[in-house]
Amino acid sequence: MIIYKSPEEIAKMRAAGRIVAGTIERVVAAVVPGRTTADLDRVAEAYISERGAVPSFKGYRGFPATICSSLNSEIVHGIPSKKRILRSGDLLSLDFGAIWEGFHADAAVSVFVGGAPPGPEAEKLVRVTREALDAGISAIRPGARLGDVGAAIQQVAEGAGFSLVREYGGHGIGRALHEDPFIPNHGPAGRGPELRPGLVVAVEPMANVGGPETRLLADDWTVVTADGSLSAHFEHTIAVTEDGNEILTLPE
Ligand code: MG
Repeated sequence: MIIYKSPEEIAKMRAAGRIVAGTIERVVAAVVPGRTTADLDRVAEAYISERGAVPSFKGYRGFPATICSSLNSEIVHGIPSKKRILRSGDLLSLDFGAIWEGFHADAAVSVFVGGAPPGPEAEKLVRVTREALDAGISAIRPGARLGDVGAAIQQVAEGAGFSLVREYGGHGIGRALHEDPFIPNHGPAGRGPELRPGLVVAVEPMANVGGPETRLLADDWTVVTADGSLSAHFEHTIAVTEDGNEILTLPE
């Protein structure tokens, strides 16, 4: 069941989203070779609690950390660890969530440790995944169908020669981190529920250099590409408005 949000509720989600965006800025600035993913988790947790918010992920179904940190062939849900040392050229996907006055916001970015990609394919993967998210967001407006969002993402990512993960995708978001509807990163366009003002969604393409198949590691959280290829992930939380959409996970 889709739960539509009032303007007052969306204002709370915007506040949560600004905290998430601030957390991303702080953590990305701390992505330096030699640091560990546990160091990044501490930066995120400190910032979120300084702002009076609560991490969305810590304790969610037993997840042990504030952020998800997924390196190279890890797609999503990697657990920060003091044993995971960042190396120059690593592709690092970071996922963040914060709760403000009972409402969640959720966003993710992929960056290169040390700033430079290890090669042109990795650079293209990250750029195209971000462009796929942008295309999905552009399809969000009243009267559009949910399938239009996935179709826009699919056209960009598969058009550039990458595959999209199918077992995981976007979701409604509000008082719960994951609400209806599930948002696949593929079409067809013109199908699925109609988008209406008050719907708030987290859209999150996960694109792989190789095939779309995934594998779950023994920690029961980390999702990796079955073929070991690189994967990138971008996400924003977006509200459907009367005349289009509003990205809620942007800095102030
Ligand atoms: Mg999400």
